[in-house]
Amino acid sequence: MVPPGSRQALSIPSDNTVGSFAESDPVRLPDLPTVFAKRAERLKALASGHELEGFLKMIAALVAAQHEALAGLPAGTLPGPTPGAPLDPATCRRDESWRVALARILERIDVAALPEPALRARTALVASSPDDLEALADRFLGGDVKPGQAAEMVFVAAALQVAWTRMAALLDASELDPADSGQCPACGSPPVAGMVAPGGTKFGHRHLHCSLCATAWRYVRTRCVHCGSTDKISFRQFAGTSYLRAECCEACKGYSKVFYIESARTLEPLADDLASLGLDVLVGEEGFSRVANPFVLGVMAEPDGNN
Ligand SMILES: [Zn+2]
Ligand SMILES: [Zn+2]
Repeated sequence: MVPPGSRQALSIPSDNTVGSFAESDPVRLPDLPTVFAKRAERLKALASGHELEGFLKMIAALVAAQHEALAGLPAGTLPGPTPGAPLDPATCRRDESWRVALARILERIDVAALPEPALRARTALVASSPDDLEALADRFLGGDVKPGQAAEMVFVAAALQVAWTRMAALLDASELDPADSGQCPACGSPPVAGMVAPGGTKFGHRHLHCSLCATAWRYVRTRCVHCGSTDKISFRQFAGTSYLRAECCEACKGYSKVFYIESARTLEPLADDLASLGLDVLVGEEGFSRVANPFVLGVMAEPDGNN
């Protein structure tokens, strides 16, 4: 179980690794050599002294294992041309790459960082048949995660991210259409968060970052990522912080997080989303919902509250 999260301001490192976030390309594919390595680094930095320290350290170990798993993947396959997002899990048949990634993650992960439920889940997954693993993957990709499966799903989600991120990196960004959509142009998944970087206009561009394949795509600012409404958008933030806000939509009662990298330079969307679960708790109490970060699916309440 993930603790409810801190409501206090997060600490902001002073170094500047804004790097590729400053670019304003319509679609930016993941950089395989660095995507998981940077995320693991950021999680480790965020974990220290954080109210969710144990959880963030566990995810840091998981992401470090994702980085190692990338190196051992079989050649894999890419789907052919298709209307819509080419890597949409609903239409793109997955090969066994993700199970190879899962085996490597389970083997390589630093078990010292794992709490008891995660250790039990690891043992259970090692002993699971390919059919059982595929069924778990179907549940995760279908957004149908049960609370009792949360520990196993963290590993399954991590392995699927590795496979999808690898596939996304092989795509041609110029062939992907961000289409003013709140869903990933590469795989159709929801974003984990948005990042606003200076440049382009006085206010900067927003890129949404995919929760599954780590592709980033440009999306209009102050527009609901769930329903596209630009009416009745309002923001919530922690008192005393300006680098993170929840963009809340009265039309659909959805929200998404927006990180402003002009004021906090070392940010990684998935890591910083996990380190700010306290904001999810706050806006959740006001009746707003979102698709949860993949690593808290089955733990945080689902958008329809049926969990
Ligand atoms: Zn994606
Ligand atoms: Zn909306």
